[in-house]
Amino acid sequence: MADAPGPLGPVDEQALDEVVTFTSGLIRIDTTNRGGGDCRERPAAEYVAERLAAAGIEPTLLERTPGRTNVVARIPGTDPSADALLVHGHLDVVPAEPSDWSVHPFSGEVRDGVVWGRGAVDMKNMDAMVLAVVRGWAREGFRPRRDIVIAYTADEEASAEDGSGFLADRHAELFEGCTEGISESGAFTFHAGHGLSLYPIAAGERGTGWLKLTAEGRAGHGSKVNRANAVSALAAAVARIGEHEWPIRITPTVRAAITEIAALHGITADLDEPGFDVAQLLGKLGPAAALVENTVRNSSNPTMLEAGYKVNVIPGHATAYIDGRTVPGGEDEFRETLDRLTGPDVSWEYDHREIALQAPVDSPTYAKLRAAIEKFDPDGHTVPYCMSGGTDAKQFSRLGITGYGFSPLKLPPGFDYQALFHGVDERVPVDALHFGVRVLDHYLRTA
Ligand SMILES: [Zn+2]
Repeated sequence: MADAPGPLGPVDEQALDEVVTFTSGLIRIDTTNRGGGDCRERPAAEYVAERLAAAGIEPTLLERTPGRTNVVARIPGTDPSADALLVHGHLDVVPAEPSDWSVHPFSGEVRDGVVWGRGAVDMKNMDAMVLAVVRGWAREGFRPRRDIVIAYTADEEASAEDGSGFLADRHAELFEGCTEGISESGAFTFHAGHGLSLYPIAAGERGTGWLKLTAEGRAGHGSKVNRANAVSALAAAVARIGEHEWPIRITPTVRAAITEIAALHGITADLDEPGFDVAQLLGKLGPAAALVENTVRNSSNPTMLEAGYKVNVIPGHATAYIDGRTVPGGEDEFRETLDRLTGPDVSWEYDHREIALQAPVDSPTYAKLRAAIEKFDPDGHTVPYCMSGGTDAKQFSRLGITGYGFSPLKLPPGFDYQALFHGVDERVPVDALHFGVRVLDHYLRTA
């Protein structure tokens, strides 16, 4: 895409330069979140706050725990009766092991038109795009129609307790009037094969059901008969849970996703037809099946096991952890199935639980998000999708905010966004950032 302004909209050269500078600058601030409170977002929060303030947008810095800083700012719209829109991005990143990478993950190096480093796609790119767009508005003197609330959060990559959870619990007043939000994990180019470019816009998230299983038995010598072996009981339950074939449950977002992706493959699919074989249809969708296959059902994957301390001692109890996920509306089935699969000898409880989200795909907001992408990539096809995991949108949903995953990036063939997400050699092309700034600017002006 050429960078000339004019036909491509009002984004100026400075905004295009700044998005690269800011992405790189934020990557250089190491905000690794190792969980358990081991993270410090404050320097990144100050970085964005200073740049908002310099554009006349007053930031509020908020901390539940020292160093775990969130930034919230409101740009007043021209129509006070309009609902406000939340644009949020997290400042923390997942860990990166430098020896695995081609460049240092916190170098923010710009090489051959690509910005490298942890957070380049998740999600310092979006943090930088938002900053570049609103600073461009300040230079131009532009005011949006709706109030736009910008939130840069801490702690998204762990519990959100110091980030969006804290903001939703303790500072709901800052989000007053917000009805919808946009954030990460959507609107990137997904190369679906045969030259087909999809832009999945997230309109839902599966729920989280992290479980702790406990088996109690009779401790004793490893050489003796023992019919109350906690390890055996736990292992059997874990195997049943891991191997369970969850039934297909199609929610409205996933239904729309499958139908639209199938249509782009020249397949007419009526999912309501009795006996319709969804799994068989997914087999015909090529790479695009990856956009839906994780969200057509609940899931339960065993991830951690703890038992015993010596080979000839049978321990009295054993524990295991399960990463469970639920489709919207799938919680009751999840609970009942787990009761059955664990059986009488193993108890289970939620270690962490989040509800599933679903955003409408027939809403004016979704239509505008779609239009913004298609304006700047007329050959691209937007499709809705449901995220298999979760984001800060879950916390903000408690304030009545409907969340969409929309961090626009136009990626060249060979750039596998989902592999870069939390992956090694995370990077983003400068052109993709420029596309994102133009799309975001357009969407936020028309929102
Ligand atoms: Zn993220």
